[in-house]
Amino acid sequence: MSRIASVLLPMPLPEAFDYAEPDGMDLIVGDHVAVPLGPRLLRGVVTALRDGAGHNRPLKPVADKLADPPLPPNTLAFVQWAARYAVDAPAWPLAMALRGLRAPQPKPQKVVVATGMLPAKDTPARTRALEAVERGAFSPAALAAEAGVSSSVIKGLVGEGVLAIELVEVAAEFAEPDLTLPPASLNPSQAAAAKALDAMLAEGGFQAALLDGVTGSGKTEVYLETVATALAADPTAQVLILLPEIALTQAVIGRFAARFGVQPAEWHSGVAPPRRRQVWEAVAGGRARIVIGARSALFLPYRKLSLIVVDEEHDGSYKQEDGFIYQARDLAVARAKLEEGAVVLASATPSLESLWNAEQGRYRWLKLSARHGSAQLPDVTLIDLRETPPEHGRWLSPPLVKAMVETYQRGEQSLLFLNRRGYAPLVLCKACGEKLTAPDTDSWLVEHRYTGRLVCHLTGFSMVKPLACPHCGAKESLVSIGPGVERVEEEARSLFPEARIAVFSSDTVMEPDAARTLIAAMEQGEIDILVATQAAAKGHNFPNLTLVGVVDADLGLRGGDLRAGERTFQLLAQAAGRAGRHEKPGRAMLQTYAPEHSVMQALAAQDRDAFVEAEMEMREAARLPPFGRLAAVIASGPDAVALEAYVKALAAVIPNAEGVEVFGPADAPLALVRGRRRKRFLVRADRNVDLQGFMAAWRARAKIPSSVRVAIDIDPYSFL
Ligand code: ADP
Repeated sequence: MSRIASVLLPMPLPEAFDYAEPDGMDLIVGDHVAVPLGPRLLRGVVTALRDGAGHNRPLKPVADKLADPPLPPNTLAFVQWAARYAVDAPAWPLAMALRGLRAPQPKPQKVVVATGMLPAKDTPARTRALEAVERGAFSPAALAAEAGVSSSVIKGLVGEGVLAIELVEVAAEFAEPDLTLPPASLNPSQAAAAKALDAMLAEGGFQAALLDGVTGSGKTEVYLETVATALAADPTAQVLILLPEIALTQAVIGRFAARFGVQPAEWHSGVAPPRRRQVWEAVAGGRARIVIGARSALFLPYRKLSLIVVDEEHDGSYKQEDGFIYQARDLAVARAKLEEGAVVLASATPSLESLWNAEQGRYRWLKLSARHGSAQLPDVTLIDLRETPPEHGRWLSPPLVKAMVETYQRGEQSLLFLNRRGYAPLVLCKACGEKLTAPDTDSWLVEHRYTGRLVCHLTGFSMVKPLACPHCGAKESLVSIGPGVERVEEEARSLFPEARIAVFSSDTVMEPDAARTLIAAMEQGEIDILVATQAAAKGHNFPNLTLVGVVDADLGLRGGDLRAGERTFQLLAQAAGRAGRHEKPGRAMLQTYAPEHSVMQALAAQDRDAFVEAEMEMREAARLPPFGRLAAVIASGPDAVALEAYVKALAAVIPNAEGVEVFGPADAPLALVRGRRRKRFLVRADRNVDLQGFMAAWRARAKIPSSVRVAIDIDPYSFL
């Protein structure tokens, strides 16, 4: 036997399988192959090739080498690194790396061409059609429109053989960015930051920086120039910009298109599969040089990834919570390391982890402390709801309504921020007190009035709102408790019947196009009052927006998990940061029942440093991240007895390790989801502990019953 190929298969196996390489197949690492497993042929990827001499166990041969472009070695190394990091099977990150390749090829398109034959008889319409066909590659319908003739004219000419229809592959356009376009003229602090980032790129090798600038300070302009430098330094360099929201992608793509004269490659769930296939191939071929996308864009097969920018790096949506569990910000740093490239983390409210890394000197720390131009940071005031509560059954307090009136009268825009989708977060029977939940699930049903349904945001279950209580049967007894964006919109409409009001949440704006339209309307001042969840709180620039009202500033603090304070501070500082981004001064008003809370005080004083310092002290005392590390084990299953036995067995075999504490098992706060009971352990470890090694060793010590599913969550963000 000449060589042995290790092949990673799309199955939950811890390692690659060995096969013999048939003579003449000439495999390379990253090749896609078909290999036999039992009676089946499976697709896999070659992860290693070694000399087969001395190997005395017979191996099955690789059945076939597939024609797809091989995965670059760094992408493969990243897949394997990510699996070890997440304590999960490499098949899952591999599947993510291959997602674009699995998408269907774009369908060939029909294009009308002239055959050179002359028509038997001329009519003015036929002449127009024959003239139009010379002007471009049109489909039959497009040609008819171009020539201003009916489709039967085209059909007739095709029938006579004067025109013909050809099927052509749609060429995927990934034009070279134009690096001769002039850069933005940066203000002095932007220029200083851009210069420092250029110096970092010039040093080469793995480099990391935190671009820490207040909202509206012009971070995007700075990293656009860093991207230009990276692309100019190496004609094969590729850059990746990660963004937390699809809606934000649209705005940033526009700025890249303006700066580089070409549309960057886009990668997220809103991109149609055939297009994803094209993007995948263009990335693998090195033709796509700028990629803008969501967290999964990290797994694309870059040839030479020189720079990764993680914008809004603090954002919780970089954490993928189901399936393959990972934190894209952390993986971005790891990928940059593997690629020996640079990573820039940008935010106005960086995560404590990144601030800590910057403080320790691991990241270069570049600060932009003022807004660009004459724009000022907004005034932030707290509205004490105990002193000035809204009227009964209303959610907007008199001081906020007064500010909205003033804003409206000046012809300026208001944003009402409430991080709750739907109409009401809870529906309760006033006869029996039952809170409506999804079947076999501990999560409340959220009322949506636009659709008239009750929806479980956790499982996706939904039902038409019943007329009688499903529990006691009482009629007309169901009441909606608390506000969601739809209910705040209803209140805003009753207060401002003349105003143009819109709602922005993932339910009302599901398609990227709809988001684009809504954002454009807001930018152009076609909306007076926007009621929005966090989808609109991030990154956008609305020039005429001068008032941000936070309906329930305390909302995020109630859960009480480790990151509640940090998350609330970040979200509200970002939301407030939407106000007054251009010449007109802005203000933000936060409705709260706890104005004395340290988070509220820090927001009102706009004193991020004070907040960070207090939070860091607390974390350090408890040795929580970034001073220690956390992991969770979530075991779930439909069979309560088997689940209980498993977590007991697991608790009995906790490895003895210094610097590690294990808490649990406990019922998860959401103890029942889709009929599966859930139990959790929480692990806290000192920073010098090999936490992944500990978790893998521990899990291997107890046999997992077939009805139980075990997930390991490294660095958990959700404690449900
Ligand atoms: P950030 O990402 O820090 O919130 P942006 O990059 O979105 O800030 O910049 C805020 C606003 O200021 C944008 O409208 C942007 O176009 C403008 N801006 C920033 N820097 C400059 C500059 N150097 N010249 C002109 N306009 C700028």
